[in-house]
Amino acid sequence: MTSVTFSESSEPPAVISSLSQPIESVKGIGEKRAKALLGADIESVEDLLLHIPRLYLDRRNLQPVSQVQVDTSATVVGTVMKTRVRSGRPGRFELVLGDESGFLKCTWFGNKWMHGLRKKFNPGDLLIVSGKVSFFNGKQMVTPEYDMLTEEGDDMLHTGRVIPVYRSTAGLREVGLDSRGFRRIIKPLLDLLVDQIPETIPASISRTLGLPSRSAAIYAAHFPESPEEAEQARSRLAFDELFYMELLLALRKHAAMYGEKGIAFQSKSPLARQFVSRLPFELTSSQKLVIREIHGDMCRPISMNRLLQGDVGSGKTVVAAIALLLSVESGYQAALMAPTEILAEQHAMVLQDMLSDINVPVTFLVGGLPAKVRRRRLAEVADGTAKIIVGTHALIQEEVTFQNLGLAVIDEQHRFGVAQRAILKEKGERPDILVMTATPIPRTLALTVYGDLDVSVLEGLPPGRKPILTRWVPETQTEEVYETIRDEVNKGRQAYVVCPLVEESEKMDLKAAVVLSKHLKAEIYPDLRVGLLHGKMKSIDKNTVMHAFKAGTFDILVSTTVIEVGIDIPNATIMAIEQAERFGLAQLHQLRGRIGRGPHASTCILINGCDPDKPIPDDTLRRLQIMSETQDGFKIAEEDLKIRGPGEFMGTRQHGLPGLKIADVLRDAEWLRKSRKAAFDLIEQDPQLIDPAHAQIRITLSHHYADVAIWLEVA
Ligand code: ADP
Ligand code: MG
Repeated sequence: MTSVTFSESSEPPAVISSLSQPIESVKGIGEKRAKALLGADIESVEDLLLHIPRLYLDRRNLQPVSQVQVDTSATVVGTVMKTRVRSGRPGRFELVLGDESGFLKCTWFGNKWMHGLRKKFNPGDLLIVSGKVSFFNGKQMVTPEYDMLTEEGDDMLHTGRVIPVYRSTAGLREVGLDSRGFRRIIKPLLDLLVDQIPETIPASISRTLGLPSRSAAIYAAHFPESPEEAEQARSRLAFDELFYMELLLALRKHAAMYGEKGIAFQSKSPLARQFVSRLPFELTSSQKLVIREIHGDMCRPISMNRLLQGDVGSGKTVVAAIALLLSVESGYQAALMAPTEILAEQHAMVLQDMLSDINVPVTFLVGGLPAKVRRRRLAEVADGTAKIIVGTHALIQEEVTFQNLGLAVIDEQHRFGVAQRAILKEKGERPDILVMTATPIPRTLALTVYGDLDVSVLEGLPPGRKPILTRWVPETQTEEVYETIRDEVNKGRQAYVVCPLVEESEKMDLKAAVVLSKHLKAEIYPDLRVGLLHGKMKSIDKNTVMHAFKAGTFDILVSTTVIEVGIDIPNATIMAIEQAERFGLAQLHQLRGRIGRGPHASTCILINGCDPDKPIPDDTLRRLQIMSETQDGFKIAEEDLKIRGPGEFMGTRQHGLPGLKIADVLRDAEWLRKSRKAAFDLIEQDPQLIDPAHAQIRITLSHHYADVAIWLEVA
C-alpha cells in the first residue's frame, strides 16, 4: 500500500486518552452502570459526551399551570398529584399535575403504554411537561414531552434555561440512568473536561463553514442557552461524523485509484463484439454508455471499483456479460457472484446460452453440488480451464482458488456485505470489481454507502416495455383477483402468486406457501398447472421448478420471496401479492420487477390483508399508494427512505462504515454534501495527511478507526 498508512507513531496526546478512558473512570459510574451503558453502545468517556439529548425543554417561557392557553404550546413544571389507568378502547393513562396556581391533566393514549407509564410516575414527583394544550373536560395535554426533575441535586432546575432530555432504555433506567440521571453525571463531567476536548476539524474548514469549536459544540449540545444554540451544536457534531466518514471513503477511494497497480486489460475486444452482434436486440444507448465507462476503467492500469445501478429489468446482465468477456479475452478469469442459487443458476444458463457460439465455457459453482462434480469444478477454476465462473457465496469459500481472477462482478450487491466483496477481491491479484444493484438508492444515501465507488447508471428500461398496471384491493376481493389471473393465463401468459410473508419463521413461510398452492390447485385452478417454489426446497428442485416455469410447463407459480431478485421470465405478466401490507417498499418493487419484462402489458395486484374493520395504518396506505402510482425505482427509494428513516433503510455498518449516531443523512443532507466536498478536497490535496494542519485528523482517524489501515487494504 503506497498511499496511506498511519505508521508515524506520534503518540496521541493525553487529552485523547482521557476522553477514551473507559466509562468506569467517571465519577458516579460503577460496574453496574458501566454494563448498562455498554448495552447502549456507550463505552468511553467520549461516547458519553456524545450521548447528546434527544430533545430540549425550554424553561424560558415557563408558565403557571393556570395560565396555559388552549390551542397553544406550553411548558410547565409541576408535581404529580395523582395518576390513573383507564382501560377501554383505547386505554389511556392520566396524570394530574399541579403547582401553586392550579391543575393540568396530561393524557397518554394506548393500551400498550398505560401500565408502563403508571409505574413510571408517582405522586410527589416533580415533572416538566411540554406540549399542546387542548380542552376536554378541562385543559389537558395529550402525549406531552416530559422529564423528571429533582428539587435538590438537579441544578438544571435552578440555573439551566433549557433542560436537556436524554434517550434512555429500560436497562439504563434500572440503574438510575434516566434522563435526569444522565444530566447528573454529564454536567460535572463536562465542566471538568470541556477544555480538554480536542478540535477535530481543520480551522480552515470550520472558518469557511462557520462551525463552532468541537468543545463548545459538545457543551452546548448538552446545556444550551437556547434551542437554537442546541441545534447549531448538534449540526456541528453531525458534520463531524459525516466528515470523518467521508474522509474514510475518500481515503479508500484514493487508495484504490492510486495504490498498487491494477490490471490493464487489452482494449481490443473481438469476442465482446461478436457477442454483441449476436444479441437478439440492439443495446440501448444507456447500456452502450455504461459499457464504455466499464471498458475505460478496465483498460486503465488501476483497479476498477464501479457500481452499476439500474432499476429492475433495466438490462444489467448483458452489461455484466460483456465485462466478463473483456476479462476473458485478455487471458484472465472472470467471476459473477449472485445472492441466491436460483439467480446464479439463471445467470449461468443465460450466459451459457449466449456464449456457446463463441466457445467460452461457463462454470457453475454453488453449495449443494455432488462432491465429485464440485471437486472437478474446483480443479478447473484452479488450473484456469474455467474461464467464466458463476455462483453464489460458494465462490468465496476457502477451498476456491482461481488461477488468475481478473474481474469479479457482484450482482444484487446489496445482498452482500463489504466483507464478502472483499473476500472475493482477495481471490485475485487486485482484480477489477463491478458491483451491480437494482435497489436504487437515493442520492443522499448513495454518497455515504457507495461513496468510494464510481457509479454508472443505466437509465430507463429497454424499449418496447409496457408499463405495469398496479392496483391494490382488499382481501375480500381475492376471488376476483384469481379470476383476473385466469383470464391472463387463458391468453397464454403466466402468473406469479406471491405468498404472504410470515415474519416469525421460515418454517411458517413455507407452510403458508404450501397451503396456498394446495388451495389454488384444488379449488381455484384444478384445470391449470400450478407450481410451487420456496426457499427451503433443495436447489435441484428449485431449478427444476424454475426451468419448468420458464419452459411454460406451469401456468401459475406460487412462490415465497425467493423470486425476489433477478428472475427473468418475460412471458409472466401478472403477479398477485398476498398480504402485500407485510412487505416493505423495496421488496414490493423488486417482486414486481419480475413482471413487465416482455412485450406484453403486465398487471400487479397487491392484496391488502389489513383488518377491514380498522383504518389502514398510514405507513401501509402510503406504501400501497406509492406502488400504484409509480414504477420508478428512485422515487420509490426516496419514499422508502422517508417512511423507514435512514438507519433502517440501509445499515451503513454493513458497508464497513462507522455508524452514525448524531447525523441523520436525510435531515443533514446539506451537511453531508458539505462534509463530502471538504473531505474529498482535503484528501486530494494531502492524501497522506502529512500537512501539520491535518495532524489532528490523522490522530483522530487512527485512534477511532484502528482498522482504518486494514480497511484501506480491503478497498
Ligand atoms: P436486470 O437489470 O434487472 O438484471 P436483466 O439484465 O435481467 O435486467 O434484463 C431484463 C430483460 O431485458 C432480459 O430479458 C434481457 O434479455 C432484456 N434486455 C436487456 N437489454 C435489452 C435491450 N437492449 N433491448 C431489449 N431487451 C433487453
Ligand atoms: Mg439482474
